[in-house]
Amino acid sequence: MVQPATFTACPPERVIPIESRAAGLNGVIVLHSTRLGPAAGGCRFWRYDDSGALHKDALRLAEGMAYKNALADLRLGGGKAVLAVPDRPYDRAKLFEAFGQAVRELAGDYVTAEDVGTTVEDMAAVRRNTMHVAGLVKKPGQPGGDPSPWTARGVFLSMQVAARRHFGTGLQDLTVAVQGLGNVGSGLCALLHEAGAKLIVAEPRPGVAAHIACLYGAEIMNKDAILSAQADIFAPCALGGVLDHRTIPTLRAKLICGGANNILGSPEDGERLAERDVLYAPDYVVNAGGIINVAGEYLGWSSEEVARRVGETGERLARILDYAGREGLTPGDAADRLARKAIAGARAPLALQPA
Ligand code: NAD
Repeated sequence: MVQPATFTACPPERVIPIESRAAGLNGVIVLHSTRLGPAAGGCRFWRYDDSGALHKDALRLAEGMAYKNALADLRLGGGKAVLAVPDRPYDRAKLFEAFGQAVRELAGDYVTAEDVGTTVEDMAAVRRNTMHVAGLVKKPGQPGGDPSPWTARGVFLSMQVAARRHFGTGLQDLTVAVQGLGNVGSGLCALLHEAGAKLIVAEPRPGVAAHIACLYGAEIMNKDAILSAQADIFAPCALGGVLDHRTIPTLRAKLICGGANNILGSPEDGERLAERDVLYAPDYVVNAGGIINVAGEYLGWSSEEVARRVGETGERLARILDYAGREGLTPGDAADRLARKAIAGARAPLALQPA
């Protein structure tokens, strides 16, 4: 799910190009901020039109990770690695081992994990060269493995809080349009069905959409039509940049709350939503469950501690919405401002080490 490449608001601390011709490795690690601790954020493996697009994507994603980690109360900074999928044959394990070597050279300033296009096996290859990696095979009773169920839970809890505030009702009385039935979207559908919500779904893989429709009685919609579905809530769980000056006027939903990163094409789109009385639950606030699980794995928390922290996602969103109301800001601007304050107010960064 490649995100739109746009500018970032604050400059990163470090941009480290990484290359190994022998291993087919070509990309960049961006450390947006290490003030709160090591810069944590996944490794994206994706095809880009050119290196400019790759760098822009990495910059924006790294900044988003810094804000996400700060507002999730993690003593972690924010960073991201973005690697280009080679356009010639390559040995995947060797490529990720070479990436592990690049992470190792940063001596703990950057902690990596999975992101779009990377897997638990890739992180196992990274681990052969560095200990600064999470998203490895889960051990019993400990955090680890696929972070998506935690992401889906945080989105669900946020949606409950936001729906209560915006509609004055619980999810059992509402219809949710879910865009994308991958790891996060399908997990979210399960939770919404259990809570009694009606579901409308869109997904390019017809078998997956049919499966969710059978399990939860969801209505299937064309992937282009889902944006204007007759739903109370729109939950983007596929692409970034889905809401912009072209799509916002077609929206019927009055609450946006989903797992995708960088849902808004630009900050002005936050204003556009507010003008239409559409409540936007900031993406990096509601989708922090996955990075909380990653942090728990890296820092050696118990699964209960991860569950407790993910369980607070709804309250964190409520505090941001309250602040936005008091300050007359859009929720997205309020979240950005609070995150920047938390980062700027950090004292000496903690030198955290993996458990
Ligand atoms: P995924 O690849 O498992 O799922 C994405 C799904 O979207 C796929 O099923 C794909 O077929 C579908 N899709 C693609 N284009 C679509 C379109 N135009 N309309 C409808 N569906 C479309 O990815 P994921 O792990 O579920 O992540 C989903 C989003 O959430 C991504 O933006 C990701 O960056 C973000 N996110 C994920 C996590 C996590 O824990 N996995 C954490 C934070 C943020």
